[in-house]
Amino acid sequence: MGSGIELATYPGLDERISVLRLGTTVDAIFVRTARFDVLIDTLDTPETCREAMELVGAERGGRPLVVVNSHMDWDHFWGNAAVAGRAAIVAHEAARERFRNGSVHEVLRRKAAEDARFGAVELHPPTLFFSDRIGLDGGDLTLELLHTPGHAPDHVVVWIPELRTCLAVDAVENPIPKVWSDDPADLASLVASLHRIRRLGAQHLVLAHGQTDAPSTMDRNLAYFEALAERVGALGAAPSVAPDDALPDGLRLTDFVEGIDALPDAARRFYERFHRANLAATIRSVHGRR
Ligand SMILES: [Zn+2]
Repeated sequence: MGSGIELATYPGLDERISVLRLGTTVDAIFVRTARFDVLIDTLDTPETCREAMELVGAERGGRPLVVVNSHMDWDHFWGNAAVAGRAAIVAHEAARERFRNGSVHEVLRRKAAEDARFGAVELHPPTLFFSDRIGLDGGDLTLELLHTPGHAPDHVVVWIPELRTCLAVDAVENPIPKVWSDDPADLASLVASLHRIRRLGAQHLVLAHGQTDAPSTMDRNLAYFEALAERVGALGAAPSVAPDDALPDGLRLTDFVEGIDALPDAARRFYERFHRANLAATIRSVHGRR
C-alpha cells in the first residue's frame, strides 16, 4: 500500500515526537506521552491516516488516543474517519462553523472529481471544542493548544513547554504563510498569532509545510509582513494586484523573500498566490477598500 507516508524527525527533537510526512504535501505530528498518545492532524485521507498510525505503532497496544485538528483545511483533517469513534477530536470552536457552513464539503466535491484518491473520503467533524486555549496533561508532557487565527479562523498551534517545542502547523510557513482573506482583521490576526508564537520562545518550531523546525522561519515570516506593510505604506495610492496583472516592481515575492527562484515551478507559483493574498490584505489594511 503506498500513500507515501513516512516517519521523519529533526536533529535534537525529542524522541516522543514523530513527524508523519506525506511527501511535500503535509506533515502531521504524533506525540507519545506517559498517559496517552496525541495525533495532531489526520492528513489527507483516512487511508493515509491509518498507515501513519501503523507507522508509529498506534494501532497496537490499545493506548488512549487524543486527536487534534489544527484547522479545517483538507490536508489537515480529511483523515478523521480513521480515528472517529475511538478518540476525542479536539479543535477550536470556529472549526465547528467551518465544518457546518459547507465550504469544506465543497472542496471535497471538487478534489474528488479531480483525483480518485479522494473519492472514498468521508468527512468527520471534530468532537471537542475550546475557545482560547486548552491543556492536555500527559503526565510527562503538557500539550497546550493555543488559538492562533489568521491563516484560518480556527487555527491552533500546540505548545509543549517541557520540550520548548511548538507545533506551529500553518501559522508559520516556509517561505511564507497565507492569510485567510483580504480582510485587514485577518491580517492583523495572523501577525498577532506570529507574535504570540514568538513569545513562547520555542527551540523547535515544527511546521506542517516546508519541512523545518527552525524558529528563524517565524522571524522571517514576521519580517516579511513588516516589510510588506512598510512598502505598501510608502506608496501614495493602492497598487493593482488583480490576478492577471504582473505585480509592480518592488512588490513581487522575490523582492521580499530570498530563494524563491530556486523553488520548483509549482511551489513558486503556489507561494506567489500566497503572496498576492497577503499583499491584497496589506493594501486594504493600509489604504482601505478601493
Ligand atoms: Zn496546510
